This record gives sequence, C-alpha cells and structure tokens, in this order.
Amino acid sequence: MAKTLEERGYPIIDVHGHQGNLRILNDGSPGQLPPVKKQQIALEKYFRHKELTEEELLNTLPSEDEMVSLFKEYGVHACPAAWTAPVAQGDLGQSNDYIYDLIKRHPDIFLGYWACVDPWMGEMALRETERVLRDHKALGIKFQQPSQHFHLSDRRFYPLWDLIASYNGFIQWHGGYTGVGTGMPGGGGIKVLEYTNPVDVDNVAAEFPKLRIIIMHMCDPFTEAAELVCMHKGNVYRETSGALPRYFPERVVHDINTRLRQKFMFGSEYPYFRLVEDILDGHEKDIKYREGIMEMLMYKNALNILGDRFENAGADLSPWKGLL
Ligand SMILES: [Zn+2]
Repeated sequence: MAKTLEERGYPIIDVHGHQGNLRILNDGSPGQLPPVKKQQIALEKYFRHKELTEEELLNTLPSEDEMVSLFKEYGVHACPAAWTAPVAQGDLGQSNDYIYDLIKRHPDIFLGYWACVDPWMGEMALRETERVLRDHKALGIKFQQPSQHFHLSDRRFYPLWDLIASYNGFIQWHGGYTGVGTGMPGGGGIKVLEYTNPVDVDNVAAEFPKLRIIIMHMCDPFTEAAELVCMHKGNVYRETSGALPRYFPERVVHDINTRLRQKFMFGSEYPYFRLVEDILDGHEKDIKYREGIMEMLMYKNALNILGDRFENAGADLSPWKGLL
C-alpha cells in the first residue's frame, strides 16, 4: 500500500482531478451529476471494464466526507476542476460556483480550483472568465477541447487567452486521447485527434508568452510532440493525470526523470482513478524514479510553477515551507 503522509514525510500536491464528482445526489443534496451522464457511463466502462447503470455510477463515487478523510490521511492537497460544455454537448456540467463552494468548505486540503468556461459562449465566456479569476481567484481555466469542440489556436478566442494572461491565470489544456465517448457509436460524437494536437499549444504559447499553459495527461499519440513543446516554450508545463502509472509511455517517464524534471507536476484524475490503489501505489511500485525526482514531481515543481496562483487563491503553503 502507498505510504501515508506520516510514512512519506511530505505532503503531495495534486494539480488535476475531479474531487467535486461526489455522490451528492444520493446524499439528498441538490448537487450535480458528473459531466455528461451517458458519456460518463462509457467512461466508467473504459476505466473499469464494466458497464454501470446511473445508480451504480453514483455508487462508485465517494461522499464528500470520504473524499476529505482520504486526502487528509494520505496528505494530498488538491485543485479540483469544474466542467462545462453547453454549446457542443448541451451540458452545463459542474459549475464554477459549485466547485468554488467545495474548496471553501475544505481550505485544509484544497489549494485553489480550475474554473471551466465554454469558449463558444462569446461575451458570456469572457465575463465568466473575468469573474472567476477576479472574484474566486481561480488558478486558471480548464478546457476539454474534444468535448467543447474548439482549437486553442482559433483566433476567434484570442481575446479569451488575453484576458486569462492579464490575470496571470493558467490554462489547463486537454492533451491527446480522452476516455470520454470511448466505445460509444461514433465515440459519442467526440473527435479525439482533431482538437488535442499540441501544435495548437505551440502556436498559442508563442503568441502569448505571458500565458502559462499546462498540457495535460499522456497526450497520446502526441506524447513526443507535447514534451518538445514543453521543452521549447518556457510558459508550457506538463502533468501526469489520466493514466495508470504502469501505462505511462516510456517517453513520459524518461522526461520526468531527465530534461523535463522541473516541468512535470503530479495529477491524479480522482475519482475516476482511485487515489491510493491506482495512483499513489502505481507511482511507488511501477515507475523507477531517479533519486529526488519523486519529490519534484509530487510537490516541488507545483510549488515553483503554481505557487503564485495558490497564494493568490489564499492557500496556506506552510506545510511545505522548509521542504523546498
Ligand atoms: Zn480530468
């Protein structure tokens, strides 16, 4: 079993997960289901190799109390992401206000949150982006281009990138393969490769040198391109959510250990992956990290890269003071 906080000696920073995907409806609260129910069921089938009913799907999710006590026991501090794609999917997902309220209830485990906006909402997207960056001190905006059907390099959205950069916000950009729609007829209408090629990040990072972008996940099949963009652009970073550690491409493991050792951050994709059995255990058992690399991946890089955003969000970084 993975080390607890006590055994490990340092807390972890998880820069990407859906800690707001909770069994809220079962608890009788007027919460929101995880994004896009039908696709969620397909996603669960992809992750867990079995089809779930909506009821079973809810039962796979933790309650808020279970989530909080697990993250405390293992010393994992997190940054949950909101989710929305009203134009392409007709789905409002999990609102920024819902995730913001969640992190406010648990300032001892959350360091801030990723808001989500739909670029196709035009003026409303701009207003919402400004609101969450100004009022919620969101770390940045998370996008899921395959579900939202847009290219980061589409010039119609440049005012949005400009606005995010003006607040020193980050973009979390979905890289490569997505489990969303996997196995459904037509992949649930999701075009995987069209919107997830990091050439879009390369172009936008070049034109917006003050805009910081995290290329997420393994970025399969564009892994090598993602690492090269990250190496070339000082304002582009990487993170590790979205795959079991034993399936990490060799290129990712190699670059975490070597040339991108200061740029990769730990992400869990909780609760789609179980925090301990799937993710923390996997990092400890299935990957050979060189000396000192695990600490960089698990918290040091996140503090160096996102520290200003955590502090802007009001996070208490004292657990790490003296560990850097
Ligand atoms: Zn995610």
